Amino acid sequence: MAKEKKGVRLEHISKIYKDPKTGKDFYAVKDANLEIEPGSFVTLLGPSGCGKTTTLRMIAGFESPDEGEIYLGNEAINALTPNKRDTAMVFQSYALLPHYNIFDNVAYGLKLRKMDKAVIKQKVTDILGLVGLEGMENRMTNQLSGGQQQRVALARALVIEPGVLLFDEPLSNLDAKLRVSMRTEIRRIQQEAGITAVYVTHDQSEAMAISDKVIIMNKGLVEQISTPQEAYYYPNNKFVADFIGEANFLKGTVKGQDIVEIAGAEVKCATGSKAVGSECSVVLRPEGATLSDAGSIKGTVKYSCFMGAYQDYHVLIGDTLVKIQEYNPKNKRIYGVGDYAFLNFEENTLYAL
Ligand code: ATP
Repeated sequence: MAKEKKGVRLEHISKIYKDPKTGKDFYAVKDANLEIEPGSFVTLLGPSGCGKTTTLRMIAGFESPDEGEIYLGNEAINALTPNKRDTAMVFQSYALLPHYNIFDNVAYGLKLRKMDKAVIKQKVTDILGLVGLEGMENRMTNQLSGGQQQRVALARALVIEPGVLLFDEPLSNLDAKLRVSMRTEIRRIQQEAGITAVYVTHDQSEAMAISDKVIIMNKGLVEQISTPQEAYYYPNNKFVADFIGEANFLKGTVKGQDIVEIAGAEVKCATGSKAVGSECSVVLRPEGATLSDAGSIKGTVKYSCFMGAYQDYHVLIGDTLVKIQEYNPKNKRIYGVGDYAFLNFEENTLYAL
C-alpha cells in the first residue's frame, strides 16, 4: 500500500533545551545515531523525560535538531517542514476533526492534495477496511469510542501513504485491556500496509509486543538498539536490564570463561570478554532460577506468595535480596518465610555485566 518503504537514519543528532527552572541549557537528546530499516517497526522506549518524544518530533519535523542530520531514505530532511516530509504522525490525542464524520476525517489529507473524488472514495474505503471500520464512513467522530477514534487517527495517517508512520504514545488514553488489543491491531496493520513505523512508548511490554527493534533511551542518551530478545537476555548495562523486565543483580567474580563465583559458589554465566578475577554484576531474571533443597548457592526465604501462575519469592543471598518467580508451582515444594533454599539456575540464564 505504501508507495515506498523508507528507512530513517539519525546521524549525531542532538537537541538542546533550556531548563525552565535553572535557565541552563541541557541535552534532551545527545548524539543519537540510529538506523531504522525500511518496513520495520521500531520503538523508542524509556522513562519519562528520556528524550523519546523529542526524537520522534525531530523525525516528523516539529522540532529541529541542534546538531546532526536526519535522513529519510537517502534524503537529508533537516531543512524540510513537516508537510514536506514523507511522514505521518498518529498522536496520543488522536487530533481528529470533531464536527466531521469518519469519511471526511480520513479524506482530509487527500482533499488537501486535491485528489480526484473517486480516487479519494476508493482510498478511504480501502483504508477503513484495513483498520476495521468498514461501513462506518458516516459516523461522527465525537460519537466513537476511544479505540475507534484511534483507528480513525491511524486511517488518516495511513491514507496519505507516507514512507514512515510515526506514533506518539498512541494508546495511552485507552484502558489497559483495549491497549493490549489495539497494539496487536497496530502491528497487524503496519505489517499489512508494509510500512516503516517508529513508535514512542514508556511501556516496555507494549514495546516488546510490537517491535522488531527497540531503541532504549535514558536521559537523552541511546543505551541500546536491539531486538527485544537481545535487550532482555543481553542488556548493555544495568539501566537496560532494569528497564526491560525485572532484573536481579548478583555480585560476582569472574573465575574463567563463562564461570563466575557468586556467594562462594562457582556457576555457569556468560562472561563475554571479561578478565578473570574482575568483579561483575550478574543479571538474573526472576524466572531464571528455581528453589530446591540442594545446590550450591544457599539463601533464606524472606517472602513467599502464591500468584496463581507462579510462586513469588524473595530470597536473601548474602546481603542481596533476590526475586524469584517459580512458574507452575502446583506440583513443586513451596518454601515458606524463614526456610533455607538453594538457587538452581536454568541453562544459559546468567549474564555478567
Ligand atoms: P514522556 O514519556 O514524559 O513524554 P519523553 O521521553 O518523551 O518523556 P521528551 O518529551 O522528549 O521526553 O523530553 C525530554 C526532556 O526535554 C525532558 O526533560 C523535557 O522536560 C524537556 N523538554 C521537552 N520539550 C521541551 C521544551 N520545548 N523546552 C524545554 N524543555 C523541553
